[in-house]
Amino acid sequence: MKQKIAVIPGDGIGVEVTQQGLAILDHLNASAGLNIDYHVFPYNAQRWLDEGLGLSDDDIKNLQDNYHGIYFGALGDPRIPDSAHARQILLKLRFDLDLFANVRPVKLLHPGLTPLKPASGQTNQDIDCVIIRENTEDLYRGVGGAFKEGNEDEMAIDQRIHSYKGVERIIRFAFDYAVAHQRQKVTLVDKDNVIIYGGRLWTRVFHEVARNYPQIETDYMHVDVAAMRMVTAPSMFDVIVTSNMFGDILSDIGAGIVGGLGLLPSANVNPQTSGLFEPVHGSAPDIAGTNQANPMAAFMTLSMLLAHLNHHGQAAQLTQAVSRCLTEGLTTPDLGGTLNTEGVTQAILARLPA
Ligand code: ATP
Repeated sequence: MKQKIAVIPGDGIGVEVTQQGLAILDHLNASAGLNIDYHVFPYNAQRWLDEGLGLSDDDIKNLQDNYHGIYFGALGDPRIPDSAHARQILLKLRFDLDLFANVRPVKLLHPGLTPLKPASGQTNQDIDCVIIRENTEDLYRGVGGAFKEGNEDEMAIDQRIHSYKGVERIIRFAFDYAVAHQRQKVTLVDKDNVIIYGGRLWTRVFHEVARNYPQIETDYMHVDVAAMRMVTAPSMFDVIVTSNMFGDILSDIGAGIVGGLGLLPSANVNPQTSGLFEPVHGSAPDIAGTNQANPMAAFMTLSMLLAHLNHHGQAAQLTQAVSRCLTEGLTTPDLGGTLNTEGVTQAILARLPA
């Protein structure tokens, strides 16, 4: 069956790395007969500046009705300092498609990439966990207000919002993910000793949902402890499920311990509607146009998209090709190599089945 994906390269290095990702997809289409069609959409800073357009409701409907997934680059442009276009495009996509689960694998692909020392008695760090972050609620709903701005009586309030439905579906998603990916344990990360009302809801629902998955071990950790343990004992984590704000922060710790922004992919998904797959990094205006952007995060993102489309074999081959290049030192300068963006793509292509 023909599958269709929408490609939104965006701005800066987002354009460069998705172009490389599409070169890989072209290769896989031809060599493995994948039959994945794609259409590239110019939803980016230039269009916003020229026409004042982000994404319309019709654009959203088109993406929802006609595509099996979205391959995204990055948004961000120095000419739009408040990134208004990113809110109108990326956040609108996340909210309107109700992409409630943000999935970020944190896997160390090569021992030399982590700044962490091996734990005592071990020769290498063993880091392989997945952060599942709620993507639609919490502080990101923008509920709050400011009073008496600009004087000493000023008050600013940002509300954390958690609904039973929102909490239940992300926790259930985390357990389903653990089962589907042969994971053993789900750890709830929260702060229920201080943030008591939301904390109670998360903890109660976590135990409620966990009863349906007796084969999966459960654990709870306060977010501050989790942040420390991700650095001191990362191998204790398997699947982490957490709220929007905590997930945002833990994801960056995750990026830091496995080699940084040039490598990490993410998925925003709703099993009932669609999925948007994007590298964790942004548009990096400082290196845009220099052919120095590391395309590996975009390749790992493509690998997640391929798995989402049920092409698990090709997804694994692509991940293995990235691992091999890392082992052989075939990387861009951010990871200590001497290749440029296109050079890395060529190295990956040479390590995929012809
Ligand atoms: P944005 O505003 O779009 O988030 P940013 O520059 O603030 O962009 P990132 O793009 O996430 O934030 O990256 C921060 C820095 O990390 C960049 O300035 C760049 O130097 C480096 N970087 C990020 N992604 C990559 C990559 N794929 N390859 C090489 N360097 C990268």
